[in-house]
Amino acid sequence: MDYGMIGKIEKAKRYAEERDRITFNSLEVEFKGNNNVYSISLNGSGWQCSCPGFHSHSICPHVMAMERLFKPMLKRDPLPYTPGQNVVSDVEKSKRYSEETDRIRFAAFDVTFHGSNNDHHTNYNTQSMQCDCDFFHTRHVCSHSMAMERILMKMLPKQPVSEE
Ligand SMILES: [Zn+2]
Ligand SMILES: [Zn+2]
Repeated sequence: MDYGMIGKIEKAKRYAEERDRITFNSLEVEFKGNNNVYSISLNGSGWQCSCPGFHSHSICPHVMAMERLFKPMLKRDPLPYTPGQNVVSDVEKSKRYSEETDRIRFAAFDVTFHGSNNDHHTNYNTQSMQCDCDFFHTRHVCSHSMAMERILMKMLPKQPVSEE
């Protein structure tokens, strides 16, 4: 373990607690509902979920659970409730789902880290993480990638080794 790496681990711990530094530009997750697995995505045109509820109401407890879990990292207003939606039941479910994070598996994400000097882009796809910072370029791991591992933990399908 070298000092450069120790510094990055300390920084990753801090970043994982200062989540408002991080913004999800896009994400794709598999969400295990009570009966089926649904695909959720977030991108420039907003949220999508493959469940029937979202299809009818453009909002569902799966997306509401994601909003609840990642609030400081979304930088967008929560989806509005719609007529015909069972709000009481959806709020109840979304609370429970947001505590059951083993329902969620990230397939991809792209985040911006607002660092003290520069912004960095970190992304994840097909179980591998990339970051545009210099440290990552030489070491294939950095404070940003380690912060995302800390935040998402088992929601990242293959949990990379970061502290050994
Ligand atoms: Zn849904
Ligand atoms: Zn980085």
